[in-house]
Amino acid sequence: MLESFSRSDIGFVSKNPFVPNQTNLNPVRAWSAAEVWGYIWMRGLDYNPLYDRDFERIGCYLCASCLASEWKNTERIHPEMYSGWDGYLRRHAEAKGLPPEYADMGFWRWKVLPPKMVQIAKELDLDLKPKKGTGPAVKMMRGASPCAAGGYSMEAVIDVPSKRDLSYAEDALSVIGEVRYSPEFEIALLRTKEGRSKLFGGGQISVTAGTEKDAEALFERTAKALIRAEMCTECGICARGCPKKAVTIKGGFRVDQKKCNKCGKCERSCMVVHYYDKMRI
Ligand code: SF4
Ligand code: SF4
Repeated sequence: MLESFSRSDIGFVSKNPFVPNQTNLNPVRAWSAAEVWGYIWMRGLDYNPLYDRDFERIGCYLCASCLASEWKNTERIHPEMYSGWDGYLRRHAEAKGLPPEYADMGFWRWKVLPPKMVQIAKELDLDLKPKKGTGPAVKMMRGASPCAAGGYSMEAVIDVPSKRDLSYAEDALSVIGEVRYSPEFEIALLRTKEGRSKLFGGGQISVTAGTEKDAEALFERTAKALIRAEMCTECGICARGCPKKAVTIKGGFRVDQKKCNKCGKCERSCMVVHYYDKMRI
């Protein structure tokens, strides 16, 4: 009944960027919670009984914006769900070298801590930065700079947990442009109309393009392809949204290159690709 501030200006029709074909209609978006409740009572309509058990918003209990009080309610009503998520947060904190307060005190809820949480972390002397080498990272060797042979070039190393062989990266790159892949030398070459990139098995990326902007854009897409290949959770969202039915999920992201029209829809809908923005550059 009570929505987040970020949804306050939502339109009558909205699309879920991560779930292809999901269209949301929001007919009562301009109603306040009191008006909605007034309507329900006036009409004697059914409503979710969790509202009678002190829940204000009912949705995903894993959501970072779920109220701490409601999270405690979840512990009481559904201890199995509570312990599952709580256990995950604790294991995640341990793997990243974070203090237990990360889970206990809800620090996991913020990408950027608000002032009050910064103050608490300071008072408790908590180090909330993940330990180096525990997450994906970009180590830039050379930013986009003029190349002696013309155009611009860039070089970097992407540090991602390596779960799969480079043929998965070949498939992820193939939705961007033409790819040639050598399993023997562990190298994939990508060619697009803007430029070329080379991706090596150790995560090194080297890009050349006509302009600085193109070099940066091609670098970003190559890096995202590698992240996607290595960190794919096999959620299947991309396969469901592919207009050419070219995607299969077999131990990771796979593409039938003969069917793919390089529309990029699968790349844009991939949650894992969005990790790129969190990487230290
Ligand atoms: S590439 Fe993997 S993680 Fe990304 S949408 Fe497809 S199945 Fe999901
Ligand atoms: S959505 Fe399908 S057709 Fe489009 S780029 Fe991805 S694999 Fe190719």
